[in-house]
Amino acid sequence: MATKIKFQAIRGTRDLLPPETAVWNRVEQTAHSVFATFGFGEIRVPIFESTDLFARAVGGETDIVSKEMYSFTDGPVGLLQRLDFSNVGQFLDEIAEKLQRDEIPKTAENTLTIERAKEVFAAFKKASGKIPVSAFASSSESDSLKEYTEMAYEAIYLANRISTGDSVSLRPEATASVCRAYIEHNMQQLPQPVKLYCMGPMFRRERPQKGRYRQFYQIDAEVLEAVRKEVASGEWRVASKELAKDAAVDAEVIQMVMTFFDKLELQGVQLDINSIGDRNCRPKYVELLRAELQKVKDKLGPDSQRRIETNPLRVLDSKVKEEQSIIENLPRIGDHLCDECAENYKAVKRELDLRGVKYGENWRLVRGLDYYMRTTFEITAQGLGSQNAVCGGGRYDGLVELLGGPPTKGIGFAIGEDRLILSLQESGKEVASGEWRVASGRLGVDVYVAWMGGSAYATAIRAAKDLRKAGFSVELPPVEQKFGKALGQADKLGAKYALILGENEVASGEWTLKTLADGSQLKLPEPALIDHLRKSKAVSS
Ligand code: ATP
Ligand code: MG
Repeated sequence: MATKIKFQAIRGTRDLLPPETAVWNRVEQTAHSVFATFGFGEIRVPIFESTDLFARAVGGETDIVSKEMYSFTDGPVGLLQRLDFSNVGQFLDEIAEKLQRDEIPKTAENTLTIERAKEVFAAFKKASGKIPVSAFASSSESDSLKEYTEMAYEAIYLANRISTGDSVSLRPEATASVCRAYIEHNMQQLPQPVKLYCMGPMFRRERPQKGRYRQFYQIDAEVLEAVRKEVASGEWRVASKELAKDAAVDAEVIQMVMTFFDKLELQGVQLDINSIGDRNCRPKYVELLRAELQKVKDKLGPDSQRRIETNPLRVLDSKVKEEQSIIENLPRIGDHLCDECAENYKAVKRELDLRGVKYGENWRLVRGLDYYMRTTFEITAQGLGSQNAVCGGGRYDGLVELLGGPPTKGIGFAIGEDRLILSLQESGKEVASGEWRVASGRLGVDVYVAWMGGSAYATAIRAAKDLRKAGFSVELPPVEQKFGKALGQADKLGAKYALILGENEVASGEWTLKTLADGSQLKLPEPALIDHLRKSKAVSS
């Protein structure tokens, strides 16, 4: 008996269903409108990009790049993808041809691998001719069969190792792409700064749990500004005036996300800020931190021990209980900022105060991505357990340059939309996920057209069309129903009205409208009926 195939969403991904999707739309709509009031324009960037872009921007040593990206090879069109005994020969012929035509990378490794794969495959072909058909049926000849299969597997293995193109990755975040687009479209020629936002799915291979998914959604905003600055030996020489300007931009960006959360009535919002220094002072602080961490190494857990070498700042992020008292005694970046960073940090706080934005200072706040400098911030909200960060952001001057663009300053943030919506749901600001909440009328059916009799059908179709044109949500059953059944269905769908169209109504041109909440009925000619519905909608909304 054939087994029944059952597909399920990939681990860490999920379907978003109605009516919950209405919440997503509302959140996104609010972002569009709030961000527009701050002068931001929407940018949409591809879901996948060159792996190198992320490696360079996010940092090769980060967890994201070293472990969490979904990467694959983007080869030429028309290449066979799933190789087996029957098609590997054809694949190798095609590959050899594409190598000749420079359609796949002509590396020494590729040339050798293809040659070797062809040899093995030729041997396999030769051997397969000699195997008697009986061998496939009896196990006594299994030795020659084994050798034969081994050769085939080796040819397939080698064929799979041929690099058919460049590595691309599903985007784990959006900043790198936005910077790439800024460079690609010469946006430094536009009036500066350029203010962009985007939203959509991101992909990271993480352990799925509440508020942590492998496909998750971010709402992301960036402010980019090309600068005519001498960038001496990679260090930014920044004038006081510039520092004050940067501080105002930082505060404005933070104010924007806080305004957005406020508009959504997100509960328990807490903004934490920090300065993590710049290329001038941070390396010295990191060295100091590393040295201090070495002294207490034995008391740290394995993750933190490893990070002493790879990324000591991340130790500050540790949630391990036993490490907390040790971390509290470590040197703090605030005491080791250079004059410029200290001045800038003070200015950021002043600018936030001027805007009435409340914040807490958290010296342990660092970001997981390499490119941040100076201002960093994180926003948490209630109802999310340990995954309570709904937004992370910071300044990243120099990233655009690192990606091959002109000297450019940058500041931005990424909101975790899944967590934002979870928090809204937990605090009762929005419907919970799960089944369709018909009882609450969330599906928003205004009018259920209960028609009966062949002659009423055409009228029902016209009524539905006119009502929809007038902006009502209309349910038109595809088959005739008895009125009792139709009304039951209308009730189940949470419709506000049932429009009753029987032979009588069609003949007289007077339609019956039943209000389902109280069972009251009205008889009205078509135009008056639409008018009546319009008025009642205006009252209720
Ligand atoms: P965390 O420390 O929670 O892993 P992060 O530092 O990796 O967050 P960022 O890369 O700064 O997060 O991304 C910004 C926001 O995106 C986070 O604050 C969070 O709300 C959201 N986010 C990040 N990773 C995930 C994920 N796997 N699933 C859902 N949301 C996520
Ligand atoms: Mg993370």
